[in-house]
Amino acid sequence: MSRPEENAIQNSQVRHGMEYRRLGRTDLDVSVIGFGASPLGDVFRRTDPLEGRLAVHRAIDEGINFFDVSPYYGLTLAEERLGAALDGRRNEVVLATKCGRYGLDYFDFSAERVVRSLEESLKRLRTDYIDLFQAHDVEFGDMQQVIEETIPAMRRLQEQGKARFIGITGYPLKTLVKIANAVPVDSILTYCRYNLMINDMDTVLMPVAKKHGVGVINASGLHMGILTEQGAPDWHPAPQAVRDAGREAAEFCRQQGVDVSHVALRHCFDHSGVASTLVGMSTRRHVEENLEALRNQVSPELLKQMSVIVAPVFNYVWPSGRPENRDSSSALN
Ligand code: NAD
Repeated sequence: MSRPEENAIQNSQVRHGMEYRRLGRTDLDVSVIGFGASPLGDVFRRTDPLEGRLAVHRAIDEGINFFDVSPYYGLTLAEERLGAALDGRRNEVVLATKCGRYGLDYFDFSAERVVRSLEESLKRLRTDYIDLFQAHDVEFGDMQQVIEETIPAMRRLQEQGKARFIGITGYPLKTLVKIANAVPVDSILTYCRYNLMINDMDTVLMPVAKKHGVGVINASGLHMGILTEQGAPDWHPAPQAVRDAGREAAEFCRQQGVDVSHVALRHCFDHSGVASTLVGMSTRRHVEENLEALRNQVSPELLKQMSVIVAPVFNYVWPSGRPENRDSSSALN
């Protein structure tokens, strides 16, 4: 689980106990722990809207300034709730949302929809600009369209001041790399490609991001719930063997008197080439716990033992997106 030193980010500063890192060549300084707002859309389970709002406020009070959402999360519910929670506090945060994905199987990467999408998001988020506007899950789009139509449309919105910077998000690394090599983007967000279960982001994505000066955002340090006491939601794409390894890792941590989520997140925060690690949160308790993970260290011995537990499923990749855009998926014994 080592990573190349050359990925180290130079632009890092600590204010009031929180570390902020520069996102690539943008002028955005984002907290190393970012607030993933998908749970506010009841994506994992039903959540309490008031508690969600208080969680957002607690996060801001504690120095978390990076918030990521999408119209897709809860089919606009997460944006609505985040917008309401940020009312009066918009200027304290770096706000990221997305375009292109609007349902489980509903994608539209056309220029016309990109423009309309941003207008709709601005209304729901109660603001007149987005700091980071991202094409969501690009592997479900036609690559030629994403490169020649979607991203240029997003750049035009940037020129109009409605989006400060633009990026892409998705799961298959080869597709993210292909786009970044074809057209300038400011950031790349990938998920479930660097955490205790996997690390191929390092070899495939990081060298390309470094070459182009693109900021990297790492999402799902908890492997979308697998590395938690509660375990993964039913819709999780990983096969049973991966879930079982997560359960075993959680059990091992419990025996050692530590929470598996703390260990998992600490491991991600320590990646110096990543500007921010997004964690899905909707309660003050999780905000507090994840900040605790940021403050605590994990012993190298414990990490070593965890890597032994997950070794049989380490670097497992599931299929995502159009067949031509997928990474080759792994076989499990
Ligand atoms: P995650 O790995 O962060 O897991 C979130 C789950 O863990 C939720 O059920 C949450 O309630 C739970 N959790 C959080 N803190 C916990 C704690 N301390 N103890 C126990 N459980 C805890 O997965 P995620 O939410 O999918 O990813 C984080 C964020 O990254 C998302 O909210 C989203 O903003 C972003 N993301 C983007 C994409 C994309 O653009 N394609 C994909 C995945 C994630």
